[in-house]
Amino acid sequence: MSLSSRDSLETAIGARAAGADHARGDLAADIDDLRTQGWLAACLPRDAGGSGWGTDADGTQNALDALRTIGRANLSVARLFEGHMNAAKLVTLYADEQLRHETFSAVRGGALLGVWGADDPSEPLTLDAASNRLRGAKRFTSGLGLVNHAIVSVAGEDGPQLLVVATDDDQRSDASVWQMGGMRATRSGRYDFDGFVVEPHQKLGRPGDYLREPFFEGGIWRYCAAHLGAAEALYRAMRTELVARGRAGDPHQQRRLVDAAISTETARLWVTRAARAVEADRAQPETAALSLLARDVTERSCRIVMENVEQALGMGAHIAGSPVERIGRDLSLFLCQAAPDAKRARAAQTLITIDCELEFL
Ligand SMILES: Cc1cc2nc3c(=O)[nH]c(=O)nc-3n(C[C@H](O)[C@H](O)[C@H](O)COP(=O)(O)OP(=O)(O)OC[C@H]3O[C@@H](n4cnc5c(N)ncnc54)[C@H](O)[C@@H]3O)c2cc1C
Repeated sequence: MSLSSRDSLETAIGARAAGADHARGDLAADIDDLRTQGWLAACLPRDAGGSGWGTDADGTQNALDALRTIGRANLSVARLFEGHMNAAKLVTLYADEQLRHETFSAVRGGALLGVWGADDPSEPLTLDAASNRLRGAKRFTSGLGLVNHAIVSVAGEDGPQLLVVATDDDQRSDASVWQMGGMRATRSGRYDFDGFVVEPHQKLGRPGDYLREPFFEGGIWRYCAAHLGAAEALYRAMRTELVARGRAGDPHQQRRLVDAAISTETARLWVTRAARAVEADRAQPETAALSLLARDVTERSCRIVMENVEQALGMGAHIAGSPVERIGRDLSLFLCQAAPDAKRARAAQTLITIDCELEFL
């Protein structure tokens, strides 16, 4: 990844972030930039024409830096890019030749991928084996109108079956149900799959593959990297503002600066450690615990940064639509992802089971 491409993308996406911060916010220009700079194709493995970001072990650092960079610029765009990287990884791991060829050709042609796992509780997605038709809907479908192909899960006795499906039918999309204070432009609404016919070759892997470790929970380092980017942006904004106001020499403010700096760096070290361990060739299932722990550290670090920034800037941190206010709003919502108590419990279970120090995991 060239530094100039990284910096210019961060500047361009960051400059549009405030304008997109509403329910009809349009991230098309941002996704176009990622496309033309080659960042969507970079998530493909090298042997498929990509740079292995998130798919090859030696692409891990670039993947992490890309997610952080976009997270600093606009967390909503980072959410979509993370879904794309996650989907490319799942196809790399589990697709047969035909599905891999079709999906990766689409990405080389500019397609944006997503992973839509959350069922609409009133109408969970099911696949009728006789007719090959889907029933039900997905919710929290980030990227409505922009994601061209999504990986969706269908529950089954032997575990969830993944499918790769086209998602560009506006009639099936409903972004109006996404009424959140933050991450507004992700348009994470609802997509109705009722009657959608699935061809056999659209099945991605076997039932239960989705939950295989260290890739399932292990993969959450990706959204932690996006969270980290937002925390870094808040820290930078605090430092700039304190210097500009002539308050950076005040000992109370210096304590806040130090606490926030330590928190962002702690999260960066943990996320890097988790990403490298999980994405290493032949990584063992237990390494997923490092991502689960990194998630806990990242959430705590982000909350420390948000609290210190708010106290450091006072009312200035609450000016509606200002970068600090918007990023804080986006980050506190994105930190909800997903089921944090269950993730901590899973990490604890590994800690109880393994017979070694974390250092050797
Ligand atoms: C910005 C954003 C984008 C998203 N995009 C996508 C997407 O593209 N695709 C997708 O599939 N999903 C997406 N999601 C959804 C996400 O993966 C989770 O499904 C969602 O964050 C869970 O929402 P919740 O906080 O309401 O969950 P809840 O499960 O209600 O969690 C709230 C709290 O309750 C706790 N809790 C959970 N279950 C229990 C229980 N049984 N008993 C007691 N406590 C419990 C949790 O640990 C947590 O502390 C997105 C979420 C966000 C915030």
